[in-house]
Amino acid sequence: MRKQIAAANWKMNLTITEAETLLDAVLGGTAEVSENQKVVFAVPAPYLALAAQKVAGKNNTFVAAQNIYPKKSGAFTGEISATIIKSIGVEHAVVGHSERREYFNESNQFLAEKVKMCLQENIVPIFCCGEALPVRETNQQNSFVQTQLQESLFDLSADEIQQVVIAYEPIWAIGTGKTASSDQAQEMHAHIRSQLAAKYGAEVANNVSILYGGSVKASNAKEIFGKPDVDGGLVGGASLIAEEFVAIIKALKS
Ligand code: PEP
Repeated sequence: MRKQIAAANWKMNLTITEAETLLDAVLGGTAEVSENQKVVFAVPAPYLALAAQKVAGKNNTFVAAQNIYPKKSGAFTGEISATIIKSIGVEHAVVGHSERREYFNESNQFLAEKVKMCLQENIVPIFCCGEALPVRETNQQNSFVQTQLQESLFDLSADEIQQVVIAYEPIWAIGTGKTASSDQAQEMHAHIRSQLAAKYGAEVANNVSILYGGSVKASNAKEIFGKPDVDGGLVGGASLIAEEFVAIIKALKS
């Protein structure tokens, strides 16, 4: 049974004091997270250990790295590995956020290596996909996202793909205040699930959580998360405001 997930992506924001205050406020404001739900905080790398300690006593609440490098160890100055984050109690990692694809030229093939490395180290990859505005305007979003899935995920086995969380994040909706309508989100999520079903069968496809990301806020979360193939959200801006993110967590399907 797939989980309903609220994942915060703090990006490159907050000092350590601000991070601690925010985490305490969200954890304090969140009642029990039920067994079919998960809350995840993707925090800047220097705060991973602290955040992992803070969520340790909280049911179904986790910390994620915002990125990993696809080698176990070695001469890769400035990078962090899945092995390193695992060793400090971190069990999730965002892979292939559109900002990494754009500013750090991360290709679908390179992201396939990152996903594999996460799985090898028992880290849940939150794999991001999604199209830019010109792709949407020419109605090519389905084939574009399909290629991202095929090139980064479809070498995985049926067991492996069920460990992956997919986040559909249309680039034109990230940080722009412009949300995809709940129908647009559902349409793409259903397409992603149909691609998973075609490759791995319906049962496997039904076990994969597919999150929506792109200007999710307290005011629109309930409607978007209410769609049948939307299993929660990856949230940037609104996750930096405690009351907003607490309300987004509450909007998850129970
Ligand atoms: C994101 O960074 O993944 C994101 C969806 O950002 P925002 O919610 O600010 O659009």
